[in-house]
Amino acid sequence: MIDLLAQATLDAALAEATRLLSAAGVDGARLEARLLAGHALGIDADAVIGRPGRRLAPEEAARLAGVVRRRIDREPIAYILGEREFWSLPFGVNDAVLIPRPDSETLVGAALDLTRDRQAPMRILDLGTGSGCLLLSVLSELPNARGVGVDISARALTVARDNARRLGLGGRAGFVQGDWAGALTGEFDLILANPPYLAETELHALAPEISRFEPPVALFAGADGLACYRVLIPALTRLLAKAGTAFLEIGAGQAAPVAGLARNAGLNLSMARKDLAGIDRCLVLRRP
Ligand code: GLN
Repeated sequence: MIDLLAQATLDAALAEATRLLSAAGVDGARLEARLLAGHALGIDADAVIGRPGRRLAPEEAARLAGVVRRRIDREPIAYILGEREFWSLPFGVNDAVLIPRPDSETLVGAALDLTRDRQAPMRILDLGTGSGCLLLSVLSELPNARGVGVDISARALTVARDNARRLGLGGRAGFVQGDWAGALTGEFDLILANPPYLAETELHALAPEISRFEPPVALFAGADGLACYRVLIPALTRLLAKAGTAFLEIGAGQAAPVAGLARNAGLNLSMARKDLAGIDRCLVLRRP
């Protein structure tokens, strides 16, 4: 049982939280203890270490014990804090959405690099928007662009809409519920998608934070991980404007099969972009 309640000072509570998190197999336990303490006390995580002798009120100690207990149960820290930074922007998250990953910033970087005129009035589509991180990050850099985010999950759309509002992008971002592009019409200059791409057989190999807490609907795509590409790639041919570009996130080893699906749908692979680990992470597709 966690004995944080018995700790009178913040530094003692921090040391105990670090020890407990570390014993539970959490990497970076010290930093996480500080983040959780900041969250429980309603102060900046940096301020936590500035006042080691600060005494914890009983309700603060109880709140800290509560969040440490959740983290020991391996709930992702982003869900506990309710936030994750992506493209240097704060995104609200809960268990309805995939936690934004640094890998996905590859798509944002590629989309911006290939946009010649950042002042142009572009139309953007984000398929499987989740937290809205792809769409909203790109919109934050393209002041005259407007975008639509589609997701099958109504709870995810609530998160995405809240994020749009919090980031001051609500006026240029719309969100609709849909099964990929099924109900969509129109043409888009820029299409982004980070669909689920894990094979169902990969479940057992995932960290508990992912396998037990993140939404399976955002992670898994059939027996080979390619099921969603088979649905959404053919729709791209209809939704891409003539000179439009699509940016698709892919998993490790999927460049060849996904490029094959694109070719079969009549799209050209214009390039692949690697993530920071050197893995092909983003396919850039165009109409011929
Ligand atoms: N990149 C995620 C992971 O490795 C998978 C997300 C996805 O399927 N789009 O857990």
